[in-house]
Amino acid sequence: MLIILKHGVSSRAIESVVQEVHRVGYRAHVSEGEHTILIGAIGKGPTPELIEHFRALSVVQDVIPISKPYKLASLEFSPKPTVLRWNTGATGGGEVMVAAGPCGVESLEQTLSAARYVKRHGAQMLRGGAFKPRTSPYSFQGMGQEGLEILALARRETGLPIVTEVVSPEQVDLVATYADVLQIGARNAQNFALLQAAGQSGRTVLLKRGMSMTLEEFLMSAEYVLAQGNMKVILVERGIRTFEKSTRFTLDVSAVPVLKSWTHLPVWVDPSHAAGKRDWVASLALAGLAAGADGLIVETHPEPEKAQSDAAQQLTESQFADMMGKVRALLPALGRKLAQELEPA
Ligand code: PEP
Ligand code: MN
Repeated sequence: MLIILKHGVSSRAIESVVQEVHRVGYRAHVSEGEHTILIGAIGKGPTPELIEHFRALSVVQDVIPISKPYKLASLEFSPKPTVLRWNTGATGGGEVMVAAGPCGVESLEQTLSAARYVKRHGAQMLRGGAFKPRTSPYSFQGMGQEGLEILALARRETGLPIVTEVVSPEQVDLVATYADVLQIGARNAQNFALLQAAGQSGRTVLLKRGMSMTLEEFLMSAEYVLAQGNMKVILVERGIRTFEKSTRFTLDVSAVPVLKSWTHLPVWVDPSHAAGKRDWVASLALAGLAAGADGLIVETHPEPEKAQSDAAQQLTESQFADMMGKVRALLPALGRKLAQELEPA
């Protein structure tokens, strides 16, 4: 349930409500908005008596039961969209962010080259996996810490924040010392220990939808991060497994408006892993934005044919530039802009 406090209550009053929430066996999450202070009481469905008990406290304005199984992720908990900011732009507030770069970090030269051109063509974030979760144990597993060092160098030169994947809870501290955003991939989307560890790191978490997850299960995974007190989560629709074989996965475009109507968290689309083939990536990116996505995460490689992972789906530089041109052309029709192109407030 969500406990809304009266305007202007003291910090002692807030603390006393938090104590009361704990006393009845619930966890408390305090969020201080501009005009209201909300205390999310997290636990099993409250009884009508418990709701009345909190309503009767003198500092409480109202109590709203949150009906959804995902509590902190729900729009009932936070009706305003969550806006996440970096030096290059923000996501969730109406502007569109693009994270782009190679599937995997393979060398300094490859990563720097990609970082330079994705920035030049309008991306606000650099992606690149240093630890790669591969279907086969015999495939390239990533450069590990050396890859993280390379990403840090690319950030130093370009100023682009970096998003990179973390594949096990033990690695979270290491990856979090380098990354601005921790990616949790589709294959780990229900690795609850990893979700909790990433939540505890305090870093923004970019969470991909598992390939066979319902949207409710997806939000429950996000809830594992949020329940650690870390409200910085980006949800990414990256395609699900269906009977269709022509694409690598089926991009569930409808996930975007559905999620936007259920949650305050930013929703992005990954057209690369859905398409599986570079020629189809731009179309899916545009479809995702048209459906209301707050951002894109796209794979591009200076020499895609030489890529050690996901070679078929990584855009060439010119395809990436072409896609960004189409994104720029589309956004005004949607009443939106690329993040870096917003006028200063
Ligand atoms: C990736 O981003 O390179 C990746 C492995 O993505 P996913 O987890 O969506 O397959
Ligand atoms: Mn990939």
